[in-house]
Amino acid sequence: MRFETLAIHAGAEADAETGAVAPPLHMSTTFQHGPAGERRAGYEYQREANPTQDRLETCLAALEGGERALVYASGMAAMQGYLECLANGSHVLIPNDCYTGLRALFHEFLPHRGITATAVDMSDLLEVRAALRPETALIWAETPSNPLLAVADIAALAEIAKAHGARLVCDNTFATPALQQPLALGADAVMHSTTKYFGGHSDVMGGALVFAQADSVYEQAAHRRHITGSIASPFNSWLILRGARSLPARMAWHCRNAQLIAEFLSSHPAIESVNYPGLPTHPGHAIARKQMRDFGGMLSIQFTGGREAALRFASRVKVFTNATSLGGVESLIEHRASTEGANPVSPQNLIRMSVGLEHLDDLIDDLKQALL
Ligand SMILES: *Cc1c(COP(=O)(O)O)cnc(C)c1O
Repeated sequence: MRFETLAIHAGAEADAETGAVAPPLHMSTTFQHGPAGERRAGYEYQREANPTQDRLETCLAALEGGERALVYASGMAAMQGYLECLANGSHVLIPNDCYTGLRALFHEFLPHRGITATAVDMSDLLEVRAALRPETALIWAETPSNPLLAVADIAALAEIAKAHGARLVCDNTFATPALQQPLALGADAVMHSTTKYFGGHSDVMGGALVFAQADSVYEQAAHRRHITGSIASPFNSWLILRGARSLPARMAWHCRNAQLIAEFLSSHPAIESVNYPGLPTHPGHAIARKQMRDFGGMLSIQFTGGREAALRFASRVKVFTNATSLGGVESLIEHRASTEGANPVSPQNLIRMSVGLEHLDDLIDDLKQALL
């Protein structure tokens, strides 16, 4: 089946008991079993598994082309869920432009277990190869990256990882499987913040790992999730499954709006650069064309006038909302450096945009008046 069809039907089969066409929401924390704990339908307790969570996992595994998926309470819980499976003393390559939470895990928590990371430019394969150490167990990629929209060649990274005996995990939050399927390109697992495009309406948190194979990391991550309780709630799973069904249609519109906004902004004199992989001038454009079906709804812009110009723009928008997060139906902008705490790494002249599903002309009019 094709992607659009899978998005609607995988995990969303009619309810066997009632015939309900919309997937039912099972809130039960516990499941009746026999006197010696015999399970009736495989379920025992919600912290391990529940039919609604299972439906979402079936859907996500199908959409990413993986064997199994695990759903978590948030994207960060999913990220941590994978990283806590690393052996003590492991070394990891992470992108120098990446989600702040990934950097925080490596600064604050993983060093206690002797796990270290080297930040590299993942679009530079020579730099990636040179940073490998004998104890490098994992390459963690994020492409396109946050907030610079850098593009890494997933197939090439998979080859490098394989040759080194390391694994490759790709944070696929920005692209979603509607645009990019890292497992088909050789990644071992994909991570998602389903809070973003899967949920799609800025009203639900969730995360997921999708594994190419039900390998030992999958088994370990599933066990750890069961014991530590980081699983997604049934209600959140239900909302994210609902979101997944319209993901392909929404992504097409996000991409169209973002592409035209990127083109509009790239000719504006106040703007020094527009970071969007759909622009032929983007350094990762050729690789993005090769590995993505379209270029996504995220972009960032950098102002010639520095931080002041960026903040002035942010204070003038009316249709775009100043808020963090992304992937919802509404357009958001954010001065990233201001939200990164004490040691911001994003350029001060940078504004990140999550382009929503409003009418393109209203978005462009808003940008025009804010840029005046
Ligand atoms: C939001 C985000 C995360 C973290 O997910 P949460 O659901 O907020 O915990 C991780 N990676 C990327 C690329 C994100 O955008």
